[in-house]
Amino acid sequence: MAFIPLQSKRVESRRESCLRAIATTAATISIEPPSPCRQDCLHHQMIFTNARLIFPDGIRDGLEVVVEEGKIAEIRERTLAHGRHEVIDLNGNYLAPGFIDLHVHGALGRDTMEASAEAFRSVCDFHASGGTTSLLLTTATAPLDEIVKVLQAVRDCRSAIRLIAGVHVEGPFISKAKPGAQRAEFIQDPSPAAVQQLLEQADVIKRVTIAPELHGALEAIEVFRARAISVSGGHSDAWDEDARAAFKRGMRSVTHTFNCMSTARRRGVNRVAGLLEFALSEPDISCELIADSHHVSPTLMKMLYRAKGPYGICLVTDATAGAGLPAGSQFALFGKDCIVENGVCLLADHSALAGSAVRMIDLVRIIVREVNISLNEAIVMATENPARAVAFETKGRLVVGGDADLIVLSPQIEVLRTFVAGGEVWSA
Ligand SMILES: [Zn+2]
Ligand SMILES: [Zn+2]
Repeated sequence: MAFIPLQSKRVESRRESCLRAIATTAATISIEPPSPCRQDCLHHQMIFTNARLIFPDGIRDGLEVVVEEGKIAEIRERTLAHGRHEVIDLNGNYLAPGFIDLHVHGALGRDTMEASAEAFRSVCDFHASGGTTSLLLTTATAPLDEIVKVLQAVRDCRSAIRLIAGVHVEGPFISKAKPGAQRAEFIQDPSPAAVQQLLEQADVIKRVTIAPELHGALEAIEVFRARAISVSGGHSDAWDEDARAAFKRGMRSVTHTFNCMSTARRRGVNRVAGLLEFALSEPDISCELIADSHHVSPTLMKMLYRAKGPYGICLVTDATAGAGLPAGSQFALFGKDCIVENGVCLLADHSALAGSAVRMIDLVRIIVREVNISLNEAIVMATENPARAVAFETKGRLVVGGDADLIVLSPQIEVLRTFVAGGEVWSA
């Protein structure tokens, strides 16, 4: 599918029509001259009609969604009384909440660690084309000063790039036994000083991946939770009791389930659970899943679904700079040479996966087609569940008062249009 940057022609023309509509209204009823409509047409009043609405418990026809001031103002039976709202006829396609991706390193050759507005914009534009309306830019294991630079850059850009909902700090507080593609030389324990250095930027950190068995991890988890940061266990060699201790301190998620995660093994004569089995068995743990069928096979996805149910899984892309690049492209990931082949990102020596090349819509389609999960449940895993995991109370659901972050999907589960706060950011 063609990739169109945020400032598409359609957005421009909608902005102009928004300005015209406001000017006309002002002329008719003699109110104060309007302030110019912002790019996202936050004041736009619109009705999405002739759509199939995707709710957690099923898909409903015959309803329409009224959007005012960037929020869902009403969900009602279809009516012909449209007033001065712009009517958007969705021609019988699906309307769903926008996707929330908790784990995004990059796209189109750009990486979060570049700490620049252009890099962030490229990454967000690409993922908007896959139906994502909010994402957590995700840092890699690196010297803390470099991570802090990213956090500061995100603070500077987040009001201008509406997809950015904050940062997921993945590393350096991870296990040297489970680094995956992360750079082992920068791994460190969560000492009080290191944690404090990050907490000075706590307002932009929404999630931290941490290995619970590290020295100082339990204290760090408590401190992060006290600052309303979601704590996710991952890149971890934890035993059952390490995971349980972290859970008691507030860990409620695990990072890319099945990948870089301890599993059941023998200790002496006994077989003991690892972080994976702890997460599968504890109902209050939500599990990130890279459902691209490379990181996790369909059978493992089915097993996860059986264990966790539709409300215990958060689809994440873990997309890296290779996402969106043509086959044969080379890119750097955390300082390592990588290549894109057959839609998969690999280390250049083909020894391991190097993050994913997918968008959220690809994961939804895969989990529907390869794991036989219903479309409405797949959408829950990409919207409501991640919103709950990071306490985004106004996102992830089609409810009155919720943000008008909306996507239009075809019957083939392709993204046709993406709206953030009622403003269109992408169209096919
Ligand atoms: Zn990872
Ligand atoms: Zn990652």
